[in-house]
Formats: sequence, structure tokens, C-alpha cells
Amino acid sequence: MSKNIITGNTEASWKQILSQSITRPDSLPASFEIDGAGLSEVTARYPMLVNPYYLGLIRQKGDAIYRQCIPDMREITNQAGLEDPLNEEGLSPVPGLTHRYPDRVLFLISSRCAMYCRFCNRKRKVGRASMVTRETIREGLSYIQSNKEIRDVLLSGGDPLLLGNKELFGILNELRNMTHVEIIRIGTRVPCTLPQRVTPRLTNILKKFHPLYINTHFNHPREITPEAGLACRRLVDAGIPLGCQTVLLKGVNDDMATMKNLMRKLLTIRVRPYYLFQADLAKGTSHFWTPLSQGLKIISGLQGHTSGLCVPHFAIDLPGGGGKVPLLPEYVMETKEDGLLIKNYLGEEYRYSIQETE
Ligand SMILES: *Cc1c(COP(=O)(O)O)cnc(C)c1O
Ligand code: SF4
Repeated sequence: MSKNIITGNTEASWKQILSQSITRPDSLPASFEIDGAGLSEVTARYPMLVNPYYLGLIRQKGDAIYRQCIPDMREITNQAGLEDPLNEEGLSPVPGLTHRYPDRVLFLISSRCAMYCRFCNRKRKVGRASMVTRETIREGLSYIQSNKEIRDVLLSGGDPLLLGNKELFGILNELRNMTHVEIIRIGTRVPCTLPQRVTPRLTNILKKFHPLYINTHFNHPREITPEAGLACRRLVDAGIPLGCQTVLLKGVNDDMATMKNLMRKLLTIRVRPYYLFQADLAKGTSHFWTPLSQGLKIISGLQGHTSGLCVPHFAIDLPGGGGKVPLLPEYVMETKEDGLLIKNYLGEEYRYSIQETE
């Protein structure tokens, strides 16, 4: 029986798709008419990898999918931004682990992704083999083991689901054996960029480690394909709540119609929007930045206008390592001793009397 490479769900098929990835600008389709020499300078600094599944989602040069995965000269010509915008290195007690908040840590366990997003805030690191090693994983695990206040471990990278099943099992198993670790979270773009990775064998492994949460990352409604839907269904059917961390990106999803469509479609594949991030101020990504007012406008256009389940927290991650802060559109127009003047989603004003509610 022949296996369709795109819908196949064997262990071999996702590895095969990944092995056919394009990593050199010269190998991109001729129809893109790229400047191969110029873009090679970009990829010498920031690696490129586009697997055939994600490449296949591009309809034309410059569309929302193209912009996320195809290198752009502005990555090296525009110097705005910071190498490490969230000061992850400064808050890192051992390499590859960031301990910013009291009860939880960010733990990088893979340096590879199924596609290198051009807007990645960890652009300085992804795709470099030295970023995560057996040694850094070992050190990270022993840091978590000896710091009992850590109750939530967020596995990230790179993409944790690019590890082989055995390696992933080993790490999850060690974490689960630490009694103070209450929940494990995985941040992964695989359901979007390489949904074939979510095999029944993988979900059988993951479901042994509950409570396990996954936050995935979709940025455009065209990424929600039947393959992505199947991957998410398998994860949710394995009892794993799925959230989505979308990044607001100029030229990709920075308009109301696209964002509303994306959020609604996520719910149809059983993914609950979690965060909508203002793009971080990472060097090499400034062509994706949007004004802060745009994110607020988008949240106002969602809240009340469509299901509350569609509305993520709009958040900025403070440069320098201050952490995530949610931003809300202004609904309270006036605060007085006896009440509030409040604007609803249609912009109509209502008085809310505090006395009456006592
Ligand atoms: C984002 C992040 C977390 C998780 O934050 P939540 O708001 O709990 O999702 C934890 N640690 C670091 C360093 C982070 O950047
Ligand atoms: S999948 Fe995540 S870590 Fe990997 S390149 Fe994209 S944004 Fe960065």
C-alpha cells in the first residue's frame, strides 16, 4: 500500500517530509524570483528551513505564508531591535533555562524547528546545534529537580516535538517523577508547520504525562488545513488542552478580518486562543512590527462581536525581561465615587452605579 506523504502518519513520513526541506535560497521555486546571493547573506546569519508541507501553503510570492518563512533582506539591513529582547540569557541560571517568574520556568529542549519563522524572537538561537545539548538538558533537569518552587515547566526551543519519541519520553518521564512539578506545558508550532509529526504513537506517549498542556502557534487562517485539524484532533482526543499563541505581524495578520477569521477557525479545530502577542523587538524582525494601537483595535473588534472564546489576551512581553503584560482596550470612560461610565462593544455609553449593587 502506498502512503501519501502529506497525509501519512507514520514515524517515517514526518522525518521524510522534514528531510526534503529547503535550506538554501537558491533551492526555492524559480517563481519566487529571489535574489539568491543577497538572501544567502541573510541565511548565513539566520538559518532558513522550509519543509515541503509548509511551502505548499504559499499561494503567491509575498503572501501571508511566504512572509513567515522566506528570508527577507530587511532582516540584515534593518538594525533596529535587540538580540535578546526578553533578556532570557540574563535570567538564565543554567544554559537553556529561563527562570523569570517565581513558580514556573521556560526550558529549551530542542534547537530545531519544522520551519524557521522569520519573525522569531529567538532568532539569535534557533537552528544552531550548540544551543541545546545533552548537557544543557541534563543541567536544566537538575535545576528543576533542586528548585521545589517550580510547579509549572514550559518546554520550548526550537520545537520540543522535533525531538524523537524516545528522547521526548525520557525528558517528560524525568519531569513527571519530580513531585513538585504539577503541570507540564509544551510550546510547539508543529501542529501548524508539520502536522504529520503528530502521530498516534506520539499522542500515546504524551497522554502518559498528564496534566499536560500544549500551546501551539497559528498566525493565519490559511494555516488551518485538514492536516492541521487532524493533528489537533489527535492531541485533544488524547486529553491535552490546546491553546494558541499568535503573534501580531505586519503584512500577515494585522487586519481585523484576517484575525477574526483565524480566531474563529481555531475554535473549529478545538484550539482555544490564549495569547495574541505584540511582536517582540528582536533584531532582524522590525519589518513585522505593528503599532500598539493596532492590537488594541483588533481586540476591540473581537470582544463582544464574536464568541468570548475567540478573544485571546493581547500581551506585550516587556523588553529587558519584565515579563508578559496584558493590554486591554479602554472600556471605563469615567470613574466617580458613585459609579462608572462604561462603553460597551458598540461604543454606547452606560452608567454603572456602584451603590445599587451593594
Ligand atoms: C512566557 C513565559 C512563561 C509562561 O508565561 P504564562 O503567562 O504563564 O503563559 C514562563 N517563563 C518565561 C520565561 C516566559 O517567557
Ligand atoms: S517555531 Fe517558534 S521557536 Fe521555531 S522559529 Fe518559529 S517562532 Fe521561533
